[in-house]
Amino acid sequence: MTGSMERVGGLAAWAPDRVPPRGVDLSPRQELACAVRHLDIAGFSENMTGHVSWQRPGRDTLLVNPWGFWWREVRAADVIGVDLDGAVVAGSWDVTPAIHIHTELHRRRPEARVVVHSHPIHASVLAAVPELPEIVHQNSSILADEMTVVGDYDGEVDSPVLGAALAEAIGDATVALLVSHGVIVTAPTMAEAVYKSVLFERTCEMHLRLRSIGEGATPIAPRFQSQLKASLIERAAPAYWDGAIRQLVAHEPDVLEEGS
Ligand SMILES: [Zn+2]
Repeated sequence: MTGSMERVGGLAAWAPDRVPPRGVDLSPRQELACAVRHLDIAGFSENMTGHVSWQRPGRDTLLVNPWGFWWREVRAADVIGVDLDGAVVAGSWDVTPAIHIHTELHRRRPEARVVVHSHPIHASVLAAVPELPEIVHQNSSILADEMTVVGDYDGEVDSPVLGAALAEAIGDATVALLVSHGVIVTAPTMAEAVYKSVLFERTCEMHLRLRSIGEGATPIAPRFQSQLKASLIERAAPAYWDGAIRQLVAHEPDVLEEGS
């Protein structure tokens, strides 16, 4: 019995009493380094390309991974600080001009405190078409009404002007598939940004597998998409992120190193 009424999801439907602890207190640099490495493990990065940027509330600078390090090897000590004009203001390394993809989104979108950009393989295949994935699975509902395609390819985004044009093309979308390039995901928190990024790449892979067997996805009614979306953002994202940090720190404790 599915009914036609709106279905409540998220913490309003159920809130856990006991949540496994993260197990470690992280500095912002440590948390960003964990995000970069975890996204690589989850198949989101293309070795060293792209950035995870984080403009914490009240700050006029971003934390970001530097140029030249593969995502898999970034430590907290490698994370740099960058101002909104793209200049490095803290840390030992450079950032590429592609940081303007991030600065211009942070400037325009108050809720986009975390911006993730890379070229994961399944998203990049769909970006080549370009074609957005269907909502192929209940957990793809986190993407419902969030995605857009930027269909004009304009070469490397290496200036504030090009970054601004891209941000305008993205508009209010929190997931943007860039033709012949990759994907941008934005979110208010690191937990949501990481989880949504992983689910987007997984959704693209499922979409492509369905295509390969000549099938499309069975539609999920919008009211269930909103129910699931609330649960995925409010309940699953924080638990996912804490679990990812626990496993990463257990297996790769050097990610937390803050000294050079
Ligand atoms: Zn890129």
